Amino acid sequence: MSTLEQRYNTVNRHISSACEQAHRSVESVKLLAVSKTKPAHMVATLYELGQRAFGENYLQDAVDKITALAHLNDIEWHFIGPIQSNKTRVIAEHFQWVETLDREKIAQRLNDQRPKELAPLKVLIQVNISRETQKSGIAPEQVESFAKVLEQLPQLSLQGLMCIPEATDSEHVLAAQFDEMQQLLQQLANNHPQCTVLSMGMSNDLALAIKHGSSEVRIGTDIFGRRD
Ligand SMILES: *Cc1c(COP(=O)(O)O)cnc(C)c1O
Repeated sequence: MSTLEQRYNTVNRHISSACEQAHRSVESVKLLAVSKTKPAHMVATLYELGQRAFGENYLQDAVDKITALAHLNDIEWHFIGPIQSNKTRVIAEHFQWVETLDREKIAQRLNDQRPKELAPLKVLIQVNISRETQKSGIAPEQVESFAKVLEQLPQLSLQGLMCIPEATDSEHVLAAQFDEMQQLLQQLANNHPQCTVLSMGMSNDLALAIKHGSSEVRIGTDIFGRRD
């Protein structure tokens, strides 16, 4: 069985080779290590190896780790789960990033509850790029109007877009959705030049996502092993 360090190195090699194939620099793609359900000591081990950005979905589990690891400089916590309105305060107080913003009401609450002594909360708009009715995320057509709302909230700082594409084996379908995300980010950046982040790509589709302009891939199991 391979160790955490070996798995981490393997994932970084996959990202490097995908960047090479796409003629992009390795620095242009960030790895978000999705540590949900995994213990703080594993996060600390990756931190020692140079990893800084960690993704979490489950709030209590996340807050326990964030608190336990508060001494680690520059560690960056990204909330990547669905957001219930009674959880916004805890998110606003503990995270640097929220990647799953798709409702005005939630944005308003995060803004109001972000402690004034902290830097504005960095946010990504989650886009329902596959247009599946039951799925989180706003419609592609509504990205610009939602961005305008967010610009009015001083304790939030819009940085770009995030998506979870359709669960499909069709590379063609996936590529079309990633490509549309890339175009949406370019359009968004016309009016909001600070928007440079495109969070898309997971274990099975990271090379395709990188080919289509992803600037952040989110990997859990391949680094930390299976979740029970
Ligand atoms: C869990 C999760 C991931 C990582 O999934 P793995 O299959 O463990 O790599 C990525 N993105 C989001 C939004 C997730 O919830």
